Amino acid sequence: MNVIEIKDLHKVYTMGDTEVRALNGVSLQIAAGEFVAIMGASGSGKSTMLQILGLLDIPTSGSYKLLGKEVSTLQEDALAAIRSQTLGFIFQMFNLLGRTSAVEQVSLPLLYSNPNMPHDDPKELLKMVGLGERLGHKPNELSGGQQQRVAIARALTNKPKLILADEPTGNLDSKSSEDIIGFLGKMNASGITIVLVTHEPDIAAHARRIITMKDGNVLSDEQNPKSTIPPPLHPLLSDTTDPSLSNSTFSFRNVKEYFRQAFRALTANKVRSILSILGVMIGVSAVIGGQAIGTGAQISVQQQLSSLGTNLLMLMPGSIQVGGVQQGVGGTSRITLQDVDAIASVPMVKRVAPELSGHVQVTYADKNWSTSLVGTTPNYAEMKSYQPIYGRFISDTDVQTRNRVCLLGITVIKNLFGDNANPVGQWIKINRVNFQVIGVLPVKGSNGFQDRDDAIVVPVTTAMYRLLGKLYVSSVDVEADSTDDTGPASDAVKNFMLKQKHIPNIPGSENAFQVRNMADIQATLSASTQIMTVLLSSIAAISLLVGGIGIMNIMLVSVTERTREIGLRKAIGARRIDILSQFLIESVVVSLLGGLFGILLGWSFSQIIHLSLNWPTVVTPTSVIISTVFSALVGVVFGIWPAYKASRLSPILALRYE
Ligand code: ADP
Ligand code: MG
Repeated sequence: MNVIEIKDLHKVYTMGDTEVRALNGVSLQIAAGEFVAIMGASGSGKSTMLQILGLLDIPTSGSYKLLGKEVSTLQEDALAAIRSQTLGFIFQMFNLLGRTSAVEQVSLPLLYSNPNMPHDDPKELLKMVGLGERLGHKPNELSGGQQQRVAIARALTNKPKLILADEPTGNLDSKSSEDIIGFLGKMNASGITIVLVTHEPDIAAHARRIITMKDGNVLSDEQNPKSTIPPPLHPLLSDTTDPSLSNSTFSFRNVKEYFRQAFRALTANKVRSILSILGVMIGVSAVIGGQAIGTGAQISVQQQLSSLGTNLLMLMPGSIQVGGVQQGVGGTSRITLQDVDAIASVPMVKRVAPELSGHVQVTYADKNWSTSLVGTTPNYAEMKSYQPIYGRFISDTDVQTRNRVCLLGITVIKNLFGDNANPVGQWIKINRVNFQVIGVLPVKGSNGFQDRDDAIVVPVTTAMYRLLGKLYVSSVDVEADSTDDTGPASDAVKNFMLKQKHIPNIPGSENAFQVRNMADIQATLSASTQIMTVLLSSIAAISLLVGGIGIMNIMLVSVTERTREIGLRKAIGARRIDILSQFLIESVVVSLLGGLFGILLGWSFSQIIHLSLNWPTVVTPTSVIISTVFSALVGVVFGIWPAYKASRLSPILALRYE
């Protein structure tokens, strides 16, 4: 039986208007065990012929039977299976992978074949071609002749029935050429059919049959009696190709190998890889950092609020001034100290504390600090957990006499007195008025918006008449008798105030005062921390997107650069899915590395924020998991197009790519 049987084969290349008839109705049979040389002038169609025989290219028309099976109509993956199991290629340019050791080059065909198929040991093959001492050498560490011997060993890995060689000696000196012909002779002796394209008569002279081509057709086809290579005793013929034995499973072995190759490709272009990793890294660290700050703020807001009693209410002047001068009905929603005293007698109200807040400048010796001030009464200490950690709180006498005494938060102390000083008993100036420090406020930490230890507490009367010159308080803290009473108490306080201020009962008047309980305040605060988190996250998402586009860009460049490599992989049996996975894994590796470093950077960033600004930050496991998954997704999403592009390359166009 014949290994090769072609009938009336045509190959037409159309380039614009002109048609190039590279093959013009060739018919030919090659029997098992033959050693054929194809000769002819340049452009006569030799390479085109060999590529079609090797299933790297498809004929325009005509029939091709390989080992008795019609192959001209098969799909690409079926062709890949046959290439992997039946064919071996040797090219003029060797087509070895860069930065890859000889033994890895020879092992490469195994990656694309089923492990149950017969194959040879790559090390043994290299020994056979005389490179037993060069297993670990890379192409740039081998001579041309040695590189071609590696390529020969690679062609033999999967025990082919047919070897196709296109000008294998074209780039070699005569000594190396003789070696290569010697190896081809040996393979032929073991039963493998050899088809060799050459334009050198002394190389062709080794073959037992010489076909000469001219203008896309066979000019002459003769036996060569002078050949020194004896015909094989047992030509390999039987068709054991089985597409179901193609490497259909996506095995762990392959994935591991793809990861190894991805790392190799990445280290080959270090600067480029680092830049694209950097893109993802910045995006992910922004996600982690933003989440950490947002979550920290939320948690600390919740902690602060829950440490205050749930039966606290807060009364504030409303946003609308009802009545007013225009209507001449009188009534104002501003709250005086007398109002505060009166509220204390409203039913269900246990106690009250006014708050007057303002901004002040404090000085001690040559130190100067700007901070916020609260004027209040003794009730404040218990109602809002402000019992001093040193000294005493303000007393009723202080309030009655407008005493110039104050309590300082630790941030103020640090800035005026230094780290470990006890300020109690010292005199400072608040807005140029002398004050004596009587106590130190408890440590409250930050809530992500403000440092709550950056504060001063003074008697409310002192604040009104000596410091801020105001006749009204900013708000009143009201404690209800019990948590259940907060609803009714809130209504009672509001109605009391409306009556107290003679605010007429007209639509909108209910807005003259606001009473909020802790649940309201909590909801408002967590809404604003959520907005902050969303804002930070969307900035992060945009930078991740930019990072992803960077990866896509790099992968597209990489696909173009490695077009020949893709062609070679396809020639030795890689299917589309193999190429696709290889490039996809590469971009996922880039983005995962970016993700990993991004998590580290984001975490360090949030630690720095925490330590330097005393902001609460929490890196949650969820945000770590989300950014890992997200960065892997970025790799897949932005890598899929370049990988798809690579997998669709036609093997022969890829191999011929300059
Ligand atoms: P040989 O190997 O004998 O030198 P080829 O088989 O490479 O010749 O080419 C045969 C003819 O087909 C040449 O005229 C060449 O210009 C043309 N040809 C080969 N490949 C292509 C292609 N991809 N597109 C257009 N023309 C091509
Ligand atoms: Mg050629």
